[in-house]
Amino acid sequence: MLLGRISQLVFRRSLHVTQKLSSNMTIDGNTILAESLKKQGVEYVFGIVGIPVIETALAFQSAGLKYIGMRNEQAACYAAQAAGYLTGKPGVCLAVSGPGLLHCIGGMANAQVNCWPLLVIAGSCPEDHEGIGGFQEWPQVESSRLYCKYAARPPSPRLIPQHVEKAVRLAAAGRPGVSYLDMPGTLLMAEVEEEKVPLEYYSAAPVELAHAAPAQVWRAAELLRAARRPLLVLGKGAAYARAELQLTQLVNDTKLPFLPTPMGKGVVSDESEYCVSTARTQALLKADVIVLLGARLNWMLHFGQPPRFAPDVKVIQVDINPEEFHNSVKSEVAVHSDIKPFVEALAQNLSKSKFSLDPATNEWWQSLKQKQKANTEFVEAQAANTSVPLNYYAVFKTVQQNIPKDSIIVSEGANTMDIGRGLLLNNKPRHRLDAGTFGTMGVGPGFAVAAAMWCRDYAPGKRVICVEGDSAFGFSGMEIETMFRYKLPVIIVIVNNNGIYNGFNKEMMADIQSSGDVAQCTPPTALSGEVRYEKMMEMFGETGHLCRTVEDIKAALKKALEETEKPSIINILIDPQSSRKPQTFNWLTESKL
Ligand code: ADP
Ligand code: MG
Repeated sequence: MLLGRISQLVFRRSLHVTQKLSSNMTIDGNTILAESLKKQGVEYVFGIVGIPVIETALAFQSAGLKYIGMRNEQAACYAAQAAGYLTGKPGVCLAVSGPGLLHCIGGMANAQVNCWPLLVIAGSCPEDHEGIGGFQEWPQVESSRLYCKYAARPPSPRLIPQHVEKAVRLAAAGRPGVSYLDMPGTLLMAEVEEEKVPLEYYSAAPVELAHAAPAQVWRAAELLRAARRPLLVLGKGAAYARAELQLTQLVNDTKLPFLPTPMGKGVVSDESEYCVSTARTQALLKADVIVLLGARLNWMLHFGQPPRFAPDVKVIQVDINPEEFHNSVKSEVAVHSDIKPFVEALAQNLSKSKFSLDPATNEWWQSLKQKQKANTEFVEAQAANTSVPLNYYAVFKTVQQNIPKDSIIVSEGANTMDIGRGLLLNNKPRHRLDAGTFGTMGVGPGFAVAAAMWCRDYAPGKRVICVEGDSAFGFSGMEIETMFRYKLPVIIVIVNNNGIYNGFNKEMMADIQSSGDVAQCTPPTALSGEVRYEKMMEMFGETGHLCRTVEDIKAALKKALEETEKPSIINILIDPQSSRKPQTFNWLTESKL
């Protein structure tokens, strides 16, 4: 019956387009919206259809946009923002009215907090049903405002192109973020004379990149020349700025130690000899001058404060958004600039004075290298322990050794993400997508769908490895069906420890649960033991991979890499009590002052 309805709609649409072409008389809101998005360079739409946006999605496809139907609006919203981050153009998320839009809210907040460009478009109840209990009626513009840079309802079909242009521009300009457009059913269905609609509404040319004031560059260079323990911190703003070539050159020429943030990984290769990720705590703690390139001093960087940073550390902060300056600590030099031109100008200044550290003799480098050696030895020892059930380190080392080095790594989960970050290396920018600044669980499969679409269009053959904790996978696991439908060869690796943070083996769990009322005694962190997530492949007549040993993982990855048109699930059962290396500081350590 649904098929009947859809084919009816497709038929009506083609009829409409034919009529439109032959008479050139009227155009409906759906088509105006679709053509406007196309005009603004939007490529990807992720969504779920229903009233009133079924025809909208069809119009998108007719206009030449790629439409990917997902299984939950939240995942669609995650996918759209990942497409935005990867392409630099907002990805679009299309949702139905009321609950559809509300399911997007988590995704909108995630994009806004991570500074990723996203445009959410939701249908809403017909305007003449508003206030009288319309179907899925909800104050959608108001609800979105808190999560957006721009939220609006175009007041008439003729104004749709203008609102789309503004929504796309605001999502991508300056610090990227979220736009929302509200499209009542009445607006989508409205027919207006085509010649009165400014469909050729301009598409804003890329804005000239913001350049640093020369005096600021000079001050930054002077500070670096005077520093005894300088450090570059590369954030996902540097990744978004596409400053990889300039930064790699700067690092190679100056031999300055650099530390990527989680999603700053790969802007300069993790395998660079100047990467000090393995001495992170020490580098942050002892640095006397830090150049902060597209990263914020929020919880992820311990607010830039003691006890994690030296109290007198001097920060050179470079950001596209001056409102970010002096947050948490006062920056010595605050540079309002895009990362790329700033790094070019800094490199030029430093090269004039032949600034370069010598890691073989430089004291700062010597102390960092010592720490790197000790930490690497610890990790190697853990990874060498391949006894069953496996620990995290052995799993990640095996995964790292058996995947193509230029893969996009999607990762979420608590221990899975934290431990995996150190062992799964990135040597290309924007090749790590994880729970990010908002620490959002459930982002993985949506991100992976978008990344796999991007690979297909821009980097054929490149693989997406989606490394999930078992709890994290549960949030959006049904997107496996989306991956099947769109023939996306995502490799989902589930690191399964039967729980959130930690779990219990089956026997222990049985004992615990028989000790009293099941809802009172089941530990909140526990999930069922040894869940066979890989059997989800059987829903599609395929076979997944269950792994307990290093050899199992190798064999599974080999098979999964042979698949080019369908996803794979590799379910790795690990020791439920495996955990990370003891940390010097609690991960949320902040100033006690
Ligand atoms: P991370 O999580 O890697 O630390 P954040 O998301 O905290 O990164 O910070 C990214 C910062 O980068 C934001 O403050 C944002 O304004 C900034 N930014 C984004 N794009 C650019 C750009 N092209 N040039 C400079 N800064 C940018
Ligand atoms: Mg788990």
